[in-house]
Amino acid sequence: PLPSPPPSRASPSAQGEAAIQASMAGPGSEPGELSDAELLQLLLEEPGDRALQPGDSGKPNSSSDLPLESFSEVLTGDSAAEKVKRKRAQTPLEKYYLKYLCVTDLSTQSWCEQQMVYGRELPQLQAPETVVLLNTGKSIHLARELEVHDVVKVHTTSKEDSWAIKILNLLSVIPVLQAGGCVRELPVFGVIEDVFLMGIIDELCYSAKGELELRELKTRGRPFMPSGAQKKKDYFQVCLYKYLFDAMVQGQLKPDVLTSHIYLRLKQPLGLQIREHAQKAGFTVTCFGDLLELMYLNLTLSDIPSIDCLKIEYSHQESNTLLGTEVVQFEEEKVREKAQYYLAYWKGQREVQGVEIEEAWKCRSCSYLEICDWRKKRAEGPEQRSGPKKSK
Ligand code: SF4
Repeated sequence: PLPSPPPSRASPSAQGEAAIQASMAGPGSEPGELSDAELLQLLLEEPGDRALQPGDSGKPNSSSDLPLESFSEVLTGDSAAEKVKRKRAQTPLEKYYLKYLCVTDLSTQSWCEQQMVYGRELPQLQAPETVVLLNTGKSIHLARELEVHDVVKVHTTSKEDSWAIKILNLLSVIPVLQAGGCVRELPVFGVIEDVFLMGIIDELCYSAKGELELRELKTRGRPFMPSGAQKKKDYFQVCLYKYLFDAMVQGQLKPDVLTSHIYLRLKQPLGLQIREHAQKAGFTVTCFGDLLELMYLNLTLSDIPSIDCLKIEYSHQESNTLLGTEVVQFEEEKVREKAQYYLAYWKGQREVQGVEIEEAWKCRSCSYLEICDWRKKRAEGPEQRSGPKKSK
């Protein structure tokens, strides 16, 4: 039998959050990898060397996929030029040391990919009003979460502990959904196109008709419904949530999915506070693998259905009034196609793209208007642009 839901949900303590960041150190922090200063030195020594663009070598992108000849070069000592080339051949996932992406990374990309990249690289250039809007939205979401459960801080000691918290939060909502209840802030994760994705569903409830309904709350600074382009971005976001959630309850989130993509260790002992929190929730676990096994069994054996209905509620931040509700149609093939297109950027298979000319109006309110390379290239002429035309 599945345990009763705990009265609280866990979040990492401040120290734990630092541990999460440390765990995200990737290829650039490996011993032997070039620092930016070393790279600059090499570039100065070999000015004629052509740097590879992501994906144009036709070679695999991750060091573990390097062909045999690359290993022999490593053994015999790389030339400076080879080191520069390998550094330049990093995919965006590697460049930003990411082992996974968030659903919102992809949905933001569907608004303007170039803007999403600038947002990651230059967050300090974001307009202050955008920052205020985002922070207010976060506070409203937290307040709604606190309506249904408490949030407790749990100290984490490893990256496995940080993921254990997400899994415990997921485990805690399964019995609630089985009993026909309503849950908020539900973590979902899975793999699309060989990239690990994670997201947080705002709310899952059963409708009067008994259908499982996803409700996403979008708060707005202005007291009217968003444009079609904004809605398109939000539609894609909730479709990705459904895609991931359905795969989870259909038993596709096997333990090795997490270990192979996030490089988590099955045998890693869980920290004391994690084990205590798990115990209170009715789970006896010692290592991370125990928890993964529990997650897989609980998801697979539960009779939770796939999501039947996707709804987005838009409300005005200041007056807290509902502006309108959109019902979103889920078309799996289209969702997969879009995800494939956006993930191609992250995997280094194509260059970053900005908005097409018919959507240039988005640039007027963009924080990166003054520095945007995409706009500069467009102004120089079509022959300066690289990459295929953006898919629709
Ligand atoms: Fe995208 Fe336009 Fe902003 Fe450039 S200026 S990042 S193309 S919205």
